Amino acid sequence: MVCRSCGAAEEIREGAIEDWVARVGGEHGYTQLTHSVEIYGLCAVCAA
Ligand SMILES: [Zn+2]
Repeated sequence: MVCRSCGAAEEIREGAIEDWVARVGGEHGYTQLTHSVEIYGLCAVCAA
């Protein structure tokens, strides 16, 4: 998750995304999956 304004970055651990990647990959016969999900927005400091 990256702030559009100041560039602050935060790692997200979201089980729903992990589950989705595993399910979609599995449906296509893929294993050993990795993924990269980037979310852009304004951090709390910049939004204030
Ligand atoms: Zn910011």
